[in-house]
Amino acid sequence: MRRGKEFRPLRRSPRLAEVRGPDRTELWTETVGSPPPVYGERWAEYRGRSYRAFEPARSKLAAAIVRGWEGDLPVDGDRWLYLGAASGTTASHVADLVGREGRVHAVERSLRPFARLVALAERWPGLLPVLGDAREPRRYLPLVPQVDGVYADIAQPDQVEIVLANAALFLLGPEAPVLIALKTPSMGRDATAASHVRRAEEALAKVLELAPAVKLEPFHRGHFLVGGRARPELFEEGAGGTLTPPRGHSPGRRRP
Ligand code: SAM
Repeated sequence: MRRGKEFRPLRRSPRLAEVRGPDRTELWTETVGSPPPVYGERWAEYRGRSYRAFEPARSKLAAAIVRGWEGDLPVDGDRWLYLGAASGTTASHVADLVGREGRVHAVERSLRPFARLVALAERWPGLLPVLGDAREPRRYLPLVPQVDGVYADIAQPDQVEIVLANAALFLLGPEAPVLIALKTPSMGRDATAASHVRRAEEALAKVLELAPAVKLEPFHRGHFLVGGRARPELFEEGAGGTLTPPRGHSPGRRRP
């Protein structure tokens, strides 16, 4: 149990708190889960609430926040689609951020991490594992409703295309956020990390209002967080690659 530390909720995502220390500011999420820790992270009680350390070395989303990500974050009550959940390290924190009323539809295609994700979901209300391939989003259409945001960490060469296909299909509508933990080493050796990011942003800018990309080093080599808010063009026929949204998209929830 930590003493003498103050947990300060951030206005942009009130279930995310900062704890200022002498050397660095730590991030913690107010948890909806129950122990034991998911990946060895510290837990603490503060004013009747339970928090878990959100470690930038373990989570690209935490690293992005530490490195100055100015774009949207999951907030209380949101529903998010999470592509590439693995065994739930970051997905559990996203489930913390959306709270008890929120939902995280966590897609993972590999059986071994998926089995751990299913076990974790028993202790994490709102974390809903989906065994599926993000390249075939129509297959999980019956399982996933429309969502307030998409987060992706799938480390694939065509990650941007995959994410846009999912975003076009599942996002509620314009202004909804799309965040991609872009792994540039997976995108080919023909270009530098900077040119992979530039190309990704060129493709994304056609359908998203981009937030400034952030480099996730020194926490995650060759990774960047890119993304922004959906523009109406994302929902036009063909914008999500070969997919056409099968349902009407509403104007979406206006974010502050
Ligand atoms: N996001 C996780 C975290 O922070 O806790 C780590 C994700 S790991 C870097 C990438 C994951 O994406 C792997 O578990 C992999 O199986 C999954 N993945 C890769 N391609 C996928 C696809 N097409 N559909 C679903 N999952 C995929």
